[in-house]
Amino acid sequence: MSVLVTTAGGVELQAYPVALPMRVRFRGITVRETLLLSGPDGGWGEFCPFAEYDDEESAPWLRCALESALGPAWPAPRRTSIPVNATVPAVGPEQAHRIVTDSGAGTAKVKVAEAGQDPAEDVARVEAVRSALGPSGRVRVDANGGWSVDAAIAAVRALDRAAGGLEYVEQPCRTVEELAAVRRRVDVPVAADESIRRAADPLRVVEAEAADIAVVKVAPLGGVAAALEIAAAIGLPCVVSSAVESSVGLAAGLALAGALPDLPHACGLGTTSLLAADTVRESLVPDAGSLPVLRKAPAPDVGNGMSPDRATWWLDRVTRVLRLVDDR
Ligand SMILES: [Mg+2]
Repeated sequence: MSVLVTTAGGVELQAYPVALPMRVRFRGITVRETLLLSGPDGGWGEFCPFAEYDDEESAPWLRCALESALGPAWPAPRRTSIPVNATVPAVGPEQAHRIVTDSGAGTAKVKVAEAGQDPAEDVARVEAVRSALGPSGRVRVDANGGWSVDAAIAAVRALDRAAGGLEYVEQPCRTVEELAAVRRRVDVPVAADESIRRAADPLRVVEAEAADIAVVKVAPLGGVAAALEIAAAIGLPCVVSSAVESSVGLAAGLALAGALPDLPHACGLGTTSLLAADTVRESLVPDAGSLPVLRKAPAPDVGNGMSPDRATWWLDRVTRVLRLVDDR
């Protein structure tokens, strides 16, 4: 099923709602819904704000999709491949070791501060990941805002010892003020992730001196060119992360990672493995811990159906958000 939609400037795009089953539950969802857009010159983009986002919050996601489908072309890349991290969920040490070994990645991001788990479980998981990576690998931990300031300080010190040195701790606490408080009291670099969602957020993080590293996602920041400008304004090293797009949308994240002046850390773009189906046959799956930088989004093999009522919901949504996004 596809429908013709029109931008405010009068450009017609074909819109294809797609439902992708997931291998693991993520943000409480088991199906990743998305909408593919194709432009008159054969370009493709992906529009996939999460269902709870309102139209205004979805507008930068659409700008990103329109940039991909209609141009202007993404800025020229400075590198041809992007190292990506393996992702270790809150599993036991044996499974954590296996995930890292199977990935071939030189960097692993380890989930910590999971509700209902004991700090000792985080320590055991991090020790297993270090043993799988060897001394030259990098171990980062992601608390997803799950700690208080005091808990974060104790945990970061313990995990830094367990890892023989952490690359960084991602979003130890929920608020920008708490991140700043943790950062003043630990030696491990702090990365802001959930604190950076909208274009104005990174500057708040910088002003509060709350982070050493910014985790940036291309769609909520409005596309590759817009995200590059924001990254320059932040002035911190950036880690590009996905919003669990299919391979069509992931290409924009890779283009951003490819175009950043400096890329000192592996990126969080190896996420198509979370999906049980993709929109393209040649899925963007990391090879030896890296993904290629493409000059445009791959053309999908559309065919993953969505129920008629959900498809109508997505087509109504993109039609509304198109009115908010000025391409004239
Ligand atoms: Mg994170």
